[in-house]
Amino acid sequence: MSTLVFGHKNPDTDSVCAAIALADLKKKLGEDVVPAAQGELNPESKFVLDKFGVDAPAVVTSYAGKDVYLVDHSDLAQSPDDLSDANIMGIIDHHKLGDVTTGQPLECWIWPVGCTCTVISSMYNYFDIEIPKDIAGIMLCAILSDTVIFKSATCTDADKKICAQLSEICGESDLDALGIEMFKVKSAVDGTPVRELVLRDYKDFDMSGNGVGCGQLELVDLSIVDGIKADLEKDIRDLKAEKGHHTVLLMLTDIMKEGTELLVASDDETVVEKAFGAAPVDGKVWLPGIMSRKKQIIPDLEKVFG
Ligand code: MG
Ligand code: MG
Ligand code: MG
Repeated sequence: MSTLVFGHKNPDTDSVCAAIALADLKKKLGEDVVPAAQGELNPESKFVLDKFGVDAPAVVTSYAGKDVYLVDHSDLAQSPDDLSDANIMGIIDHHKLGDVTTGQPLECWIWPVGCTCTVISSMYNYFDIEIPKDIAGIMLCAILSDTVIFKSATCTDADKKICAQLSEICGESDLDALGIEMFKVKSAVDGTPVRELVLRDYKDFDMSGNGVGCGQLELVDLSIVDGIKADLEKDIRDLKAEKGHHTVLLMLTDIMKEGTELLVASDDETVVEKAFGAAPVDGKVWLPGIMSRKKQIIPDLEKVFG
């Protein structure tokens, strides 16, 4: 039986591309590893795989009894519900260490960089395995996506250095143009149900016993969502009630203006003011310079709940 490698729930481009790349690397190192995804691919990920002619991983939701590698997460809330019945062989990630634990020693590559694909590219280099052209292309896109074309606070010199190597391999030299092309696909909201937009890049967190959800839409221009903002606000209130959460947030991030309009549904809106120093008005607040959920939203919120 093949070992499966998969990223977090509501897979993003890094989760998908990191799973594909790690499976390729592991195969070349003599392991039988197949990529998987915990859910359907988003439009950006489909665009990226299409562009470089790479097959999408199978959607797998049950992992009991399987050997697995985790990429792009180590939080139980973002893992399959039956992960405790799987055998975790390793974790490759770039988030804070989560609450996943193992019964056996594991291979662990968790680095404070902007993207899991930066770690996996470095693993290819470490094992002296040539990165295939198509894999280089999708990993390059994953890094541009996760680092918001190098603008995010999560971006490091290691990410930029790996991107230079990947762009040489795959022949994409204009990284800004490639990034904008990708974010335009990501920004498209027409015809997409509101709930799907809220959940497209959404994560649940447990903050000292309080359920907190946070979604993010990264947009080339905030005006794209003008016509549906009221529906988005209503939907996060509904989602909060359905989940019994303390707070559900939706980050509307303008990648060109480099800031985020935060939509807030909360039992206590003052948590937002305490965390970010600005009070929501009518359930909304503009946060200049804020682009990263992982680095600029979640840690400050956790402190308030702590
Ligand atoms: Mg991710
Ligand atoms: Mg990532
Ligand atoms: Mg992201």
